[in-house]
Amino acid sequence: MDAKMFREFGKAAVDFVADYLENIRDHDVLPSVEPGYMLQQMPKQMPESPEDWKHILSDIDRVIKPGITHWQSPNMHAYYPTSVSYPSIVGEMLASGFSVIGFSWICSPACTELEVVVMDWLAKFLKLPAHFLHETEGPGGGVIQGSASEAVLVAVLAAREQAVRRERERQPELSESDIRGKLIAYSSDQSNSCIEKAGVLAAMPIKLLPASEDLVLRGAALKAAIERDVAAGLIPVICVATLGTTGTCAYDDIESLASVCEEHNVWLHVDAAYAGGAFALDECADLRRGLDRVDSLNFNLHKFMLVNFDCAAMWLRDANKVVDSFNVDRIYLKHKYEGCTQIPDFRHWQIPLGRRFRALKVWITFRTLGAEGLRAHVRKHIDLAAQFENLVKADSRFELVAPRALGLVCFRAKGDNEITSQLLHRLMERKKIYMVKAEHGGRQFLRFAVCGMDPKPADIQFAWTEIETQLTQLNLEADQQPLENRKAGEIAELTQHLTGLQLQMDETLQR
Ligand code: PLP
Repeated sequence: MDAKMFREFGKAAVDFVADYLENIRDHDVLPSVEPGYMLQQMPKQMPESPEDWKHILSDIDRVIKPGITHWQSPNMHAYYPTSVSYPSIVGEMLASGFSVIGFSWICSPACTELEVVVMDWLAKFLKLPAHFLHETEGPGGGVIQGSASEAVLVAVLAAREQAVRRERERQPELSESDIRGKLIAYSSDQSNSCIEKAGVLAAMPIKLLPASEDLVLRGAALKAAIERDVAAGLIPVICVATLGTTGTCAYDDIESLASVCEEHNVWLHVDAAYAGGAFALDECADLRRGLDRVDSLNFNLHKFMLVNFDCAAMWLRDANKVVDSFNVDRIYLKHKYEGCTQIPDFRHWQIPLGRRFRALKVWITFRTLGAEGLRAHVRKHIDLAAQFENLVKADSRFELVAPRALGLVCFRAKGDNEITSQLLHRLMERKKIYMVKAEHGGRQFLRFAVCGMDPKPADIQFAWTEIETQLTQLNLEADQQPLENRKAGEIAELTQHLTGLQLQMDETLQR
């Protein structure tokens, strides 16, 4: 493919994407394909000769699109949003055009420096403590990771290595493997699965402490666990708290957790993968309470900042702790400006060596929408969730299971879990909207998250109509069930009666 053909293909692809996103409501949010649908349509080997791009693009429409779950549809209400925007798509395309691997400053100065710029812009937009800014003198700063899972793993690994070094000095009589065998970490049973996975990957058990009745993890629970473990000879390393849990968007009590962590020299990381976007709003200032006392923090721009996946911001109060833990050098990685205090070599802040130019899509999105546009986006999600919450409250057949939090409403059909389960099953079969279930205290519920690229009040009404009419239908069928059973019973009774009469008549005739 030469540049001329690339221009044609690229422009046609932009038109394809614009048409797709503009008309996204035309598709059911869930695809109607069965497992293996594509495998049957695809040749078993790559083509021997080059193919025309027009043919390939038409196959995207024919084979790929039918198997797409439409995450950008406003009828997507599962998980959390992963909202994209046109400027972000353009940023992704330009980054692909440059295709740099910016693991150190010299590998592409613009890649590193733009990341420093946008991470400071974002930290200020979210009103984070100044020590997280690169521009503040000190060891703090922000970096873009691929996902929240990566950010959590980086924090867990760095905390582990810091603890091992500290304990080797404190207890020189113990071997390194003895120390490693005693390490222990904490989180809440409401935290995302990636926290537990980070423990598995870091070969360090993470205790999932039971959250209290309101689904919040507080200092008292952490303190009790740490004291128990210290008495048993274990070494507490890190607590991963959550602001905006995946199940119900509950907020752990950062202040009280910080007090316990400070007392026991435990690293405190905050996973604010979804809720972090709300730090920017004055009306959500409470959410920021205690962040000045945490060691590290992550927030997914691909959830709430209209930047496409993958893009997870992470801030460190003392980045040297990560750099010291992960610094592995080779002669081919050295460059003349290494160690320059102003500019980080981000390869030391992450798991892979190579890194994408993600800052470009962030920069283009931030400039195109402005802080004002980003705040309006978060507020729109909150308002739309409030609209849905009111619809739930007005229908006596449903109940809320947790207070609405940001763009998430957790609700269920009153009665046993079976009704809610059947309702979700029906909705999934119809594919008009997509939600997932969660469970707490034995009660199953549905999570309604405001998602999609450009959701509107009419989309919320559409989802609600779909939900409530399906419950009506379900109830109708349940009511009909006993009626049918009753009719079947009556028919059996009548048949028995007729058979009896027939027998009597036969007997009479015989006599
Ligand atoms: N943390 C929370 C609170 C989440 O809700 C999620 C995903 O929804 C994650 C972490 C994992 O995010 P990622 O897919 O970026 O690793």
